[in-house]
Amino acid sequence: MVEIVRIPVLSDNYVWLAHDPASGETVVVDPGVAGPVLAEAEARGWRVSQIWNTHWHADHTGGNAEVKAATGCTVTGPDAEAERIPTLDRQVREGDLVRLGGIEAQVMEVPAHTSGHIAFYLPSEALAFVGDTLFAMGCGRLFEGNAGQMHSNLQRLAQLPPETRIYCAHEYTLSNGRFAATAEPENAAILQRLAAVEAARAAGEATVPTTVAEELATNPFVRAPSADALAELRRAKDNFRG
Ligand code: ZN
Ligand code: FE
Repeated sequence: MVEIVRIPVLSDNYVWLAHDPASGETVVVDPGVAGPVLAEAEARGWRVSQIWNTHWHADHTGGNAEVKAATGCTVTGPDAEAERIPTLDRQVREGDLVRLGGIEAQVMEVPAHTSGHIAFYLPSEALAFVGDTLFAMGCGRLFEGNAGQMHSNLQRLAQLPPETRIYCAHEYTLSNGRFAATAEPENAAILQRLAAVEAARAAGEATVPTTVAEELATNPFVRAPSADALAELRRAKDNFRG
């Protein structure tokens, strides 16, 4: 069973360290910076053997070069964004398998936030690293894609087993939850979760990872019945100040 450590960096990013005790391999998912990642790995006696990137944005790849130089690790990321992730060793597409020791990760193409965005789904661990696609109670902005793509991405992720843990790359849950409460004012599960998130954030606690089941109940973007409905929600959230 893989061991996962959350490393908060920059203003609201989470970098994930995943360690497979059986093989001794350690992967860093979306290292926006290198320093805190290398320090955390060293403190645990873990040697970073891989980087997995979900998309090219600097807050997810800015630490690639330094982590690679310090550890000699292999960098895996989306084929469609290869020229925008300069330290890439392996370019992957939909359906490709990436291994952490004996653990398999399936590559899912989930374009919309960026045109080549991917997610890594680890069925044996019941978890997925989803970058900036699905957030707790929200979804990524549509920088290089459209609402139709995001709608189908979220529907695919929502069809993973309900207990699947979703590791997203930002702590946006409080703002997302406040928006969700305005989008679905009658949804008691949203109001209840928002209260829990407010308490957690006031106590300085993280609200990620989430689960597929929680998102099905409380995420208006996952619950959106159509691409048009998602487009309207996304526009409203882009202008929401809560
Ligand atoms: Zn991004
Ligand atoms: Fe990001």
